[in-house]
Amino acid sequence: MPIDSSLPYDAANIFARILRGELPCKTVLETEHSLAFHDINPLAPIHVLVIPRGAYVSWDDFSAKASDPEIADFVRAVGEVARMTRASAQGYRLLANTGKRGGQEVAHLHVHVFGGAPLGPMLAK
Ligand code: AMP
Repeated sequence: MPIDSSLPYDAANIFARILRGELPCKTVLETEHSLAFHDINPLAPIHVLVIPRGAYVSWDDFSAKASDPEIADFVRAVGEVARMTRASAQGYRLLANTGKRGGQEVAHLHVHVFGGAPLGPMLAK
C-alpha cells in the first residue's frame, strides 16, 4: 500500500530497521550520512537503494529538512553507487517514488539506482 509522504516518520519501517541492524541487507556503500544496499526484489541487473541515515519519510521531507552535509553526502553517495556498480558505464536510471501517487511503499526516503541493461521508456502510458 503506497504511503503518504506527508505522514510523520514511522521508526518501525523496514529501512529504519536495517539502519538499526535489526534486519540484514547486502551493503554496497556506507558513508557518514547514507547507506546503499541491494534491493531485495531486483527489477534490473543492477538495482541498488540509497537511503539517508536520518529519519526522513520522502524526498519532499528530506529536501525541506535535511542539513546541507546530509544532502551533499546523499547526492554524492548516489553518484558513487552508480560508479561502483558500473551502472554509470552504460547509462542508468534514478527513481525516488514519493508519496501515494508516486507509488512509495517504504516510508523512509530511498533512491533506486537501476542499470546493467536497457531500461526502456520512463513510464508506461
Ligand atoms: P518503493 O516502492 O519506491 O517504496 O520501493 C521499495 C523497495 O524496497 C522495493 O523495490 C522493495 O523490493 C525494496 N525492499 C523492501 N524490503 C526490502 C529489504 N528488506 N531489503 C532490500 N530492499 C527491500
